This record gives sequence, structure tokens and C-alpha cells, in this order.
Amino acid sequence: KGILAQTDPELARAIELELLRQQRNIELIASENFVSPAVLEAQGSVLTNKYAEGYPGKRYYGGCEFVDIAESLAIARAKEIFGADHANVQPHSGAQANFAVYFALLTPGDKILGMNLAHGGHLTHGSPVNVSGKYFNVVAYGVEEETGQIDYDKLRQIALQEKPRMIVAGASAYPRAIDFKRIGEIAKEIDAYLFVDMAHIAGLVAAGLHQNPVPYADVVTTTTHKTLRGPRGGMILCKEQYAQMMDKAIFPGSQGGPLMHVIAAKAAAFGEALKPEFKAYQQQIINNAQALAQGLMTRGINLVSGGTDNHLMLVDLRGTGITGKVAEKLLDEVHVTCNKNAIPFDPEKPFVTSGIRLGTPAVTTRGFKEADMDTIAEIITSTLKNPEDEAVKDRARAMVKELCDKYPLY
Ligand code: PLP
Repeated sequence: KGILAQTDPELARAIELELLRQQRNIELIASENFVSPAVLEAQGSVLTNKYAEGYPGKRYYGGCEFVDIAESLAIARAKEIFGADHANVQPHSGAQANFAVYFALLTPGDKILGMNLAHGGHLTHGSPVNVSGKYFNVVAYGVEEETGQIDYDKLRQIALQEKPRMIVAGASAYPRAIDFKRIGEIAKEIDAYLFVDMAHIAGLVAAGLHQNPVPYADVVTTTTHKTLRGPRGGMILCKEQYAQMMDKAIFPGSQGGPLMHVIAAKAAAFGEALKPEFKAYQQQIINNAQALAQGLMTRGINLVSGGTDNHLMLVDLRGTGITGKVAEKLLDEVHVTCNKNAIPFDPEKPFVTSGIRLGTPAVTTRGFKEADMDTIAEIITSTLKNPEDEAVKDRARAMVKELCDKYPLY
């Protein structure tokens, strides 16, 4: 037992229960992962005590010589991983990073062209409830109903017609590869900025398993906690010409003191991402996603776009009599964690939905392989097809336990 268990047993218990939940459940939330003990140690370090407004070598506080080392390591490693001219590792989250990019490059009222939230885009790409939708004039592109995929000719037509100041590319629930080079060409044609938010796929990009947007985009943001397997947080990568603008937009533009313990954890995670094992890990994420997709489809489950190129897939539940909301709850009962998710052209409301989103980054960290993904497909299918059958659920829970015992976490 740690110190917290003695000083604050109520809080310690909540943390302990969350650890037990993570160990007990099969984690299929596409945006989650399990960081290494080294990342946890850096994040739980005394660097949380330090104020360090400014940037390495140019701080507004004394005593920054050691946190400067940590931040400089994070910056250098990020630049090396993604081949970027400049990196800002201070954004507290992905949303903060995106806000800073808009703040730096746009004026309220400017037009942006982003991916429709209902088709897989993110809230911060122009949703009316987000500052990106409130301050800017938003036009959207989406996916085709027949293919579930982006039609780049149509995207170009919208861009030529609407002449946005910025095109936003990237997604939270798009199971296919994105052609950033092509979108960059479209942006050039209309003299617009290309801003890529690669949050979901950053780990795949780091490993060279997805096209890297950095050469084609003016600015790229990412979260550090998804496939990249770092602490929760954000990052901005950009060409040299935007370096100062981005740094100013983060501090003093939209944030105060950076979270130095989180930045140290980012440095630790980026160090791991530069190791050869990381590439093997990212390849296994894709192999596992392929195996899960195949396992579901052979059992009669439909996937948006008929499969996946990356770490995630969207299950299309239309016609099954089960909504995304019900499916999420049923799977939670058998200790499989996922999230309900709108599918393109969803007839249900966003809080209900006709889909669930499944991703393989977290289970791959635990060590799951292709054969285990087929077992997960069986667990999911049998549970969704027999929602009232307690014997089926008992069997599913037993299968989950066997898998989780086989791959211990922490
Ligand atoms: N951008 C994309 C594409 C995302 O999927 C997410 C989170 O899911 C974010 C940004 C926001 O990140 P955060 O939750 O750290 O603000």
C-alpha cells in the first residue's frame, strides 16, 4: 500500500478500483492506451511543482535549468520522430493545441473547411458547440454513403466553391488512410492553410505505417496519449516559418504555465517511440485491427467502409435492433469497454447512435495477438446477438477473464 492509502483511503480506493477495472476489462476504446511504467514515473514526478512560463532558455521564472532539459528532450525527440522543423510540446490537450492553431492563423469570421463530426471529424474541427464552430464560418466535407470514404474530388469541389482560409484534415472515427498529400494540393490550389490533426494515427505515422502529414501541412497537431502511447496531452508540429506564431499562440496566447511533469512524460514516451520495438508495436496494432475486423465480418457484423486501414473500426449496427448506446452497455456488462459512436448518415440521435467504435492500441500494448482478436470478435458477436441470455454473458465474461489473465497489465 502506498502513502495515499494511509492519508486518503477514500481517494486511494478509487484509484485502486480503476486499476482493477483496467486489468479486468478488454479495452477497445480507440483513443485510449496504457502508458509504460517509465511514462507513469515521469508524470508522477516532482516536476509537477515547477512553474516554467516561457520556453527552454527563455523562462519567466528562475530555477528552470532542469525542466529545460526535460522540455528540450521532448522537443528534439518529437522533431526527430516526425521530421518536423519545429515542435511545441506544451499544449495541455489536443483541443488546446487545435485552439492555438486557430488563434495563430485565423481571425474570427474566417471560413474553415473541416470534416463533418457526424462523419468522423472531431468537435474542434468546426462543431457548432465548440469555439471552432462559434468563431469561424464552417463548411464541412464528409464521406460517401456507398463507400464510407472521403471522395477527394468532392472535397476539392467544395474547396474551390467555398474558398476557405483553412482546410482541416484528420478525424476521430475514420477507419481508412487519409491522403494528406492530396488535401495539401487542394489547399495550395485555393491558397488556403492545411492544418492536419493526426491525433488518432500519430503512432502509426511515427512508425512509418501511415502517410506522414508533416511534409504537406502548414501545421500538424496531435494528442500524445492515443496510438502514440504517451501521457494525456497535446503537441504542435510546424514548418519553421510558423514556429514563433505557434509558440506565442500557446504561451502567452492561450495557456499559462506548462505542465512540466507531463512534458517529461511526453519526452519519455517519445524516447520509446524512437526505439525499433515501437514500430513492431504499431504494426501489431494494425494486424490486430485487421484480425478483429475480419472476425466480426465473418460473424455477420457490418463495418463502415467494409473494413479498416488503421487502428480502429466502426461497427454499423443498423438492422440489428440494437443501438450504439445499448451495445456499449451490453459489452460493458461482459467487461469489454468501447464507446457508442455515430456512423455516417446515422438515423439515431448522437446520444443513442447506430454504431460502436473499436480500436486495438490498448489491447496490443497488453500483448494481444491476432488469434486473441478472433476470440474478442466472438465475445462481441455472441453478446450483441443474445442481449437477454445470461448464460451467454457468463461465458463471455469467462472468455474475457481468460484473455486478461493471459496478458497481465501493470
Ligand atoms: N483531435 C482529435 C482528432 C481527437 O480524436 C481528439 C480526442 O479524441 C482530440 C483532438 C482532442 O484531444 P483532447 O481530448 O486531448 O483535448
